[in-house]
Amino acid sequence: MFNYSRMVLAKNDDSSSIPLTTSNGKNGKNEKIFRGIAAAPGISFGLAYVYSQMEVVIRRTDITLGEVESELLLYRQALERSAEELEKIYDLAKEKLGESLAEIFQGHLMMLHDPVLTEAIENRVRGRLNKAEYAVASEFEKYASRLRDSADDLLHERMQDLEDVKNRLIRNLQRKRLTGTIEGGRIIFSRKLTPADTVLFSRHNVLGYVTETGGMTSHAAIISRSLNIPAVVAVPGILNEVNDGDLVIIDGYKGLVYINPSDTHLAECRKKIAEIENIAKKLETLRDLHCETTDGHVVELAANAEFVEEVEYIRQQGADGIGLYRTEHLYLLREEFPSEQEQFLVYHEIAEAMHPRPVIFRVFDIGGDKVLDSSAREGNPFMGWRGIRLLLDQPDIFRAQLRAILRASRGGNVKIMFPMISGLVVLKAAVDFLDGVKEELRHEGVPFDEEIKVGAMIEVPSAVLIADVLAREVDFFSIGTNDLIQYLLAVDRGNELISELYQEFHPAVLHAIRMVIESAHRNNIWVGLCGEMAGNPYATPLLLGMGIDEFSVIPSVLPEIKHIVRSFSFKEAEELARRALDAKTHEEVREWLIPLMHDRFPEFFTTTMT
Ligand code: PEP
Ligand code: MG
Repeated sequence: MFNYSRMVLAKNDDSSSIPLTTSNGKNGKNEKIFRGIAAAPGISFGLAYVYSQMEVVIRRTDITLGEVESELLLYRQALERSAEELEKIYDLAKEKLGESLAEIFQGHLMMLHDPVLTEAIENRVRGRLNKAEYAVASEFEKYASRLRDSADDLLHERMQDLEDVKNRLIRNLQRKRLTGTIEGGRIIFSRKLTPADTVLFSRHNVLGYVTETGGMTSHAAIISRSLNIPAVVAVPGILNEVNDGDLVIIDGYKGLVYINPSDTHLAECRKKIAEIENIAKKLETLRDLHCETTDGHVVELAANAEFVEEVEYIRQQGADGIGLYRTEHLYLLREEFPSEQEQFLVYHEIAEAMHPRPVIFRVFDIGGDKVLDSSAREGNPFMGWRGIRLLLDQPDIFRAQLRAILRASRGGNVKIMFPMISGLVVLKAAVDFLDGVKEELRHEGVPFDEEIKVGAMIEVPSAVLIADVLAREVDFFSIGTNDLIQYLLAVDRGNELISELYQEFHPAVLHAIRMVIESAHRNNIWVGLCGEMAGNPYATPLLLGMGIDEFSVIPSVLPEIKHIVRSFSFKEAEELARRALDAKTHEEVREWLIPLMHDRFPEFFTTTMT
């Protein structure tokens, strides 16, 4: 338990691909242990599945004669899927970038359907019994070498397009293969994972994720946490060390990966899994108690959610509501925007299941790393066409979503939240748009909650500085520290190279949070925090003491956070918050906060495996 804390605070002293130790492991194979960033808690063991995604490295593998037809079928399905993706991107790009720039994707489609290439690939599978990935890679390479040799600059430029099409095709082939063969539960090893991959694989009994790149607040990591799937990210070079089918242990508390573990480590792993279950059982007694300090200060303790399937678990964990429902996963799962009716059914189901507890639906926050590889290319997507910006540019999508949420609000427990608010004009545009949609529904006689509350996410630094102005336009704020920290400190939340600079206790972060809370309270609105920091138990007393009204956390940490809140007096939390706000560096806060929390909660902050 309390794993997340370690992820944030424990500095990784070794994140190279050099194993920490090597010794004799299972089946006479050498055990190798690697350290990365602990991105999602939990321990599990199982067989490795190596998934090459972006940079496609394909080794030659052959099939048997009997497998030819199924291999060709797989290839055709991947071809179809790639074409569907490209058509969607083309439509999107045409709308946003104009016909001429969008044509690049028409070019991709033509390459994909090139009859000569297709025939050559199929012939390779049939004749040389090559696995489809290898056939695709080889035939595309042949094509590429012709382009490379040509003197025409324009043809040279097409190399990148060719590479993109090849990668898309191979990725779809592998996805298809993976989701078809993952029955027994596997630990996925990949260079990187997109949020869409993470979700997709999770449906196939995945036991863990290990990636070479990524940071702990990358969306893929967040999704692993909400799906309760352990993840270790930023283990460079691990793909060279692991083979498909190797037995591995993943320790998402400490960020360790054991390849071919020794019997001792396997036994420790089993023991640890049992211990974790025990602690969880003990915390169950807190379920129906308020999230209240020893001197009676009550805060809301809500959960973050991404999928409708999580709602039952969230209720079991005793959440006061859902403080952030990331609706964009409806899009990520299907790779297209769901219709109003499809959305309504999902939102309605969630609102009903949680009733009378509140559910905050955050409108689609597409963009940043939450895009399919299919979306329009942007040089700097995190600073680009994301969240509310995209929605205001896509009125049909925005309208359909708002209509669906409003229709689901009849029970009176639904709230709406806008992501990526950077200024008053944007916020007002979103609120005005919502008012227009409400008017439309009234006109049509469609009932909805006329008192529905609207909130703004505070996750862009400009919003912090003008929080007083924004507070007058909405009913609540929710601080999105995942983005706020990345924008405030100029540290990409998904970049492992600078992950040590991603600091939740940086004075600028703490002061920004305090400013937002004060602005909200001055304007008589409540303020929550729904970034991952809300679920970091080390941060709990500080946020509590700064006066946050609501914590919205990943469901699995909810009981621990409640336990911590219930162990402090508000007065003491205020003192700790003051002390933290006086610190000049993140390190200075850690120096006293870590030992304090370890002394106070020894049962949770014990080390996991050795
Ligand atoms: C955040 O930015 O803190 C947040 C909660 O939103 P997301 O992680 O989805 O960007
Ligand atoms: Mg955000």
